[in-house]
This record gives sequence, C-alpha cells and structure tokens, in this order.
Amino acid sequence: METFASRFLSDSNNKAFDNNHRAIINYNISRYNIAVTKGLQKFRDLEKASEAAALVKHKVLENLDNYLQNFEKRFSENGGSVIWAHDAGDALESIIKILKENNVGMVVKSKSMTTEELELVPYLEANGVEAIETDLGEYIVQISGDKPYHIVTPVMHRSAEDIAGIYHKKFGLSSDSNPAEITSFTRDVLRQKFINAGAGITGANFLIAETGSVVLTENEGNGVMSMSWPPIHIVIAGIEKILPSLDDLGLFLPLLSTHGTGQSLTAYNSIVSGPGRSSGNSGRAQIYVILLDNGRTDLLGVVPQRRALSCIRCGACLNACPVYRNIGGHSYGAVYSGPIGAVITPHLKNFDHYKHLSYASSLCGKCSEVCPLKINLHKLILHNRNYAVKHGYYPKIEKTSMFLWKKAMLNRSLVDKPPYAIKNFLFKKAVGKIWGKRRSAPNLKPNSFATTWKKHKS
Ligand code: SF4
Repeated sequence: METFASRFLSDSNNKAFDNNHRAIINYNISRYNIAVTKGLQKFRDLEKASEAAALVKHKVLENLDNYLQNFEKRFSENGGSVIWAHDAGDALESIIKILKENNVGMVVKSKSMTTEELELVPYLEANGVEAIETDLGEYIVQISGDKPYHIVTPVMHRSAEDIAGIYHKKFGLSSDSNPAEITSFTRDVLRQKFINAGAGITGANFLIAETGSVVLTENEGNGVMSMSWPPIHIVIAGIEKILPSLDDLGLFLPLLSTHGTGQSLTAYNSIVSGPGRSSGNSGRAQIYVILLDNGRTDLLGVVPQRRALSCIRCGACLNACPVYRNIGGHSYGAVYSGPIGAVITPHLKNFDHYKHLSYASSLCGKCSEVCPLKINLHKLILHNRNYAVKHGYYPKIEKTSMFLWKKAMLNRSLVDKPPYAIKNFLFKKAVGKIWGKRRSAPNLKPNSFATTWKKHKS
C-alpha cells in the first residue's frame, strides 16, 4: 500500500537521479547565490538585523492573541472586515460566500502560499468561479497543470525552453519564443482579466497590528492590480504574519527581499489599511481579511518548534539545503518544502503522515545559518524526531529493532561471538533497504575492532 512516506521516497529517488532536473536546479540556485551574496553586502550589520528581527517575532509569538485582536480592531475601524478561519474549510466557505453574494464569476489572484494551503483555485473552479493566477510563475504553473515547486520561485524547475514549449502547446506561440515574448503575451492576456474580474484575492506578507494594515510585497505589479482593480479585495493571511508596527517594515522588507532574491527591496510594496474612503478613488469598495489558523495554533503549542512560526517565507533555507537541491520541491508532497517544510508540515497537517519529512535532512545546519530570522531549523528537525518518538509515531518493528540493537551493543560477547558470515547476513538484512538499490551495503570485517586491537597490542 502506498503511504505518504513511500511516495516521498520514490519521488525523491526519481528526482535525485534525474540529470536534467539537477542541471536546471543547480543553474538556478547558483544564479540565486550570486545575487544574494551581493545583496547581503548592503547590510551594515546583517547579524544584528537578524537578531532584531528574531526578537520582534519572538515578541509577536509570545503575545499573538493580543496582536491579532489589535489588528482586527484597527482594520475594522478602518472599514474592513475580518473573518477568522479555523481551517481551510472555514476559509473556503467564507470566500465563496462573499463571491456568491456579490455575483462574482471571475477572480484574479496574486501569488500566495496560504491560498495553496487552501487549494483555492480548484475549489473556486468547482464552484463555478473562474480563478486566474496573475503572478507569471504561478500562471505558468496553472496553465501547465503543475504545482508550485518553490515558495518564492514556483517554476524554478523549468528551463526557458520548457516554458516556451508550454506556451506553444497551450496558445500556439512559437516553440522558440524568448522570455520577453512570453511575458508580453501573458501581460496582454492578464490585462483583460484584471479589467473584468469581480474580485481580487491576495495573500499578505505582513499584517500590522498597530494600524490594521496588510502589507504585500512582489516584483511584477500583479499583486497591486489584484488588490486595486476589482471592486472587492479578499486577503488570506496566516495568523503568524503579524508585525507590531509599521516601523518594523524597515527591518523586515529588506531582510525578506535580500534573502528571497538578492534585491535591496522588492519592486512593489503595498500597504492597505481598509476600503476606499469618501473621495472614492483610493481603495476598493469592500476588503476582507481572512485570518487563517489551519494548524498554526497547534504548532504554537509545541515548544520549541513554535519558533518556526517566525518564518517570513524568503526561501533561503530551501536553496541552501542539499536535500532540497537533490530531490526538488515536488517530492515533499506538501505546500511547504525544504527545511521549513520539514519542520512545520507535520504539525500543520497530519504528524503521522508527514513525520518522514523531518528525517529528510543531513542536519548539516546550512538552513539555520542562512535563515534571516535565526530559526534553528536543523535543531527543530531533531526536535520533531524526538516528538515523533515521544508521541509514539513510529512502527513497532522500529521499536523492536532498537531494543535488540541496544541489547547487542551493550554486550560485547553478543557482538563478538556469532560467526562472521551470520553477522554479515544479519547486518545486510537490517540495513539493506536503507542503503538503497544503487549501492551495496559494505561487508563487515571478519574480526571486530576490539579483537583486532587486542591482537595488535599482544
Ligand atoms: S525558515 Fe528562515 S530561511 Fe527558511 S523560508 Fe523561513 S525565514 Fe526564510
């Protein structure tokens, strides 16, 4: 029977030995590395900036309930509506209700991992509402029936030629169209969608508690248009997105942009604090913020893994991770991949189904080193493994094997006595599967180290 873990293993295995995939990812990540190394030099003291940001987020997580209530109060005073969604089902119901009440037949949406959590686009389509992704990468994902590969760059796994092929098949563009031609074509298609859409749906990079504001940062301008062209704007934001005040943006926006793409600042940074005022031209008629829990409160209750809720989704840990670089984003089988996904996915979804992600790590610590929020990801991965054991999320066979292994290891004669051939047989039986098909388990030496050492000394 296929399980989440067995699917993960087989998908990872396929990707890790796919040379084409390896070449594209290595090329894209090496370009990312050059840009980010350059971008980070602009910080006078990156270490201090990261420490300060980590402290702000620590404060937020310790007082999340107050900050969220403050946000709700301020945003409502500004004329917006706040909806609390316990899970994906709640959020989807609220969205479709707003759309149906306003006879919306088509929505434009900007890039948002939170909406991926909800599987929003297929849900809207199934309910008779056309939903168009307007971020170029997400648009390519949508027209190719794919899933986002990376939390910042959804089509990182595609080459320019692949993308030209998709446009050729879908729209009849020349199969050797260059990126400029493809972008220009997409812009023309999307412009009409922006004009005709009845609502725009976006995520939020930050929510400001002090002013009741939603902050959206992006590079293409599609987010600004999604939130400002249609008459209704719906924001879907995880409850952890809170920052105390607008002043914090001076720290968080550059940290996010440099670690995400190497830019000093992302091209478009929008702050929306409510619907349009009486002048009638400075905002949408209706604006809703859906505050999504979807497992976050459960994660908040798990110490120290709750620290992962400080994440600002810059993607740096994914690019740094040797496992991610080999198995790619899709193998994780979850919205959040890489080291941050390995920490949060088991808690946000089903721990038993997704615990294997916490074992997909070399524990090299590179992810923790690059994280701008100083999240100790590799240690949290270890804490997840500990959590799995403490809560009984492991097969009985593992418990028995560990018991026997411990017994054997604590008894020298049990290790030394059995004949070499039997020991080798047992060893290969035990580790053969783990070793994988592509390498053979090593042969044990006829004599143990202890025996060899004794002989050597005598
Ligand atoms: S865990 Fe850190 S490095 Fe990874 S995406 Fe979040 S903020 Fe970025």
